[in-house]
Amino acid sequence: MKHCSMEASDCLGITRRQALSVIGKTAGAAAMYQAMAYLGFAAQSPFKESERFERLRGAPKGVSVLVLGAGIAGMTAAYELRNAGYSVKILEYRPKAGGRCWTIRGGDVYTELGGATQKCEFDRGLYINPGPWRIPYNHFAILSYCKSFGVSLEPFIQVNYNAFVHSTRAYGGKPQRYRKVQADFQGHIAELLSKSVNQGALNKTLNKADREALTSALRSWGALREDGSYGKSIESAERRGFEVWPGGGLMPLMAASNDILEGKELIKSRFWRRIITGQFHEFQSSIFQPVGGMDMIAQAFAKQVDDLIKFNARVTSIAQDENGVSVSYENSARPGSALTERADYCVCTIPLSILSQIPLNVSAPMREAIRAVPYEASVKIGLQFKRRFWEDEHIYGGISYTDAPISLIGYPNTDYGRQGKGVLLGAYIWGRNAYEFTSMTPAERIEAALKYGALIHPQYRDHFENGIAVGWHRVPWTNGCHGIWTDETREKRYKDLCQIDGRIALAGEHASYIPAWLEGAVLSAQDAIKRLHANIVAKN
Ligand SMILES: Cc1cc2nc3c(=O)[nH]c(=O)nc-3n(C[C@H](O)[C@H](O)[C@H](O)COP(=O)(O)OP(=O)(O)OC[C@H]3O[C@@H](n4cnc5c(N)ncnc54)[C@H](O)[C@@H]3O)c2cc1C
Repeated sequence: MKHCSMEASDCLGITRRQALSVIGKTAGAAAMYQAMAYLGFAAQSPFKESERFERLRGAPKGVSVLVLGAGIAGMTAAYELRNAGYSVKILEYRPKAGGRCWTIRGGDVYTELGGATQKCEFDRGLYINPGPWRIPYNHFAILSYCKSFGVSLEPFIQVNYNAFVHSTRAYGGKPQRYRKVQADFQGHIAELLSKSVNQGALNKTLNKADREALTSALRSWGALREDGSYGKSIESAERRGFEVWPGGGLMPLMAASNDILEGKELIKSRFWRRIITGQFHEFQSSIFQPVGGMDMIAQAFAKQVDDLIKFNARVTSIAQDENGVSVSYENSARPGSALTERADYCVCTIPLSILSQIPLNVSAPMREAIRAVPYEASVKIGLQFKRRFWEDEHIYGGISYTDAPISLIGYPNTDYGRQGKGVLLGAYIWGRNAYEFTSMTPAERIEAALKYGALIHPQYRDHFENGIAVGWHRVPWTNGCHGIWTDETREKRYKDLCQIDGRIALAGEHASYIPAWLEGAVLSAQDAIKRLHANIVAKN
């Protein structure tokens, strides 16, 4: 992405469409849309709701399907296949269903690879979602199952304008309110662009009427003053907040504050990287979370297929022949036990990070594809505090961002104003930092989360009680967070992964274009069983 410190001369000699592209890249989608509207470019969104999955019908009599893994993909497949008339069983490694769709509450015990065991000490009613925590409004498939299965949803706050954006390298490390960062960034960009227009930098690109329309749009979008400058004013205070907030009666008159964040430092702070997050379609309102924890979704799915699941069944090999598929597994509570299950067909939703370690007789292209997808590292840390001190700072839900290794702090989106304890998502870490945190002991991870979190909330140390830390590469049943596809591996391997290989179909978030989302798991399962069903019906 291009820096927003773009000089006016950068815009010389470009077309109207290119000018819009520059506005979009530097100032964000909202600015571009507003400019487009003024320049007459805005058109109806081409986005169409994806067609809903058509329920399978008419399974040939007596045909069986073995599903491997009772995550959301496995349970989607099992639910639909059974409804179509197949005889279905699921083998699941863990003693419970849901896979990554997981919630940790007080009393839960979790042992990671390497043997470290944590017992969650959260108080009753408090929880952390170590994996998924939000569902966008446009993830129609998972939302449709939530509706059918009676999962209660509540709002997930993605953008909280009163939360913080923090950089260890800017403003002396002092956290800034999101609303100030957003308003000031937008204001400075609008001022720069407006000046460029007034100085004739876009004369070759825009005619007089277009220039006037754009200047007027920028004045409104950036809360600029009459003279086109950005700074202290009631208009900007309406966005960034007041020094003296509007009151009642004879209270002091409202006043704008003087602490406008200076333009160049704002750009250097790279805060703009944080404030664009909410503009991506997956993070736009409305976003949801299940009431009571993400595993409410897992439990609702499990209620539909519970009788089909064999728990504590760790698959150790998968073999197909002309007549069916044989799967060996062991009781994960009693390693070494040799058990088998056989069916006519198999839908395998075991993550590729695990499947690549399991003997499986499929064609060479599918085997290559299974081995071609590395898994992303991620760490989430839940911290319980004696009181919801962040609400004293008027932060209700949402996220504060930081360039410290914890990356963000997520505030609970429920129970606002409740007296007593609360749990924060004290870290949600990706990439290099995630590997580093994963290599620490759980206690060290929590200690580091406290150290970095205190840079934003100095109250951390006074109020902290206990915590739990999940490093996804150490989760025994996924060995990672989600499959990473590059353009190259998609091009070379994706189709081979998704093709039905004899009697075996693969599904899961890794076999989708929406990795790391529940929606990807559901759509992948729906597509795999649709094709498998068509094959079976054609053969019988
Ligand atoms: C940190 C993190 C954050 C995320 N955030 C979001 C979010 O906010 N919103 C969202 O929609 N999605 C999110 N996701 C992604 C979402 O969790 C996944 O896309 C989805 O849960 C994957 O479902 P699945 O069925 O494909 O795989 P899984 O849930 O992994 O299910 C696979 C199942 O296979 C089982 N298994 C593994 N090995 C074996 C074996 N040998 N034998 C038998 N069974 C086995 C596992 O126990 C598991 O139950 C997040 C994931 C992570 C990790």
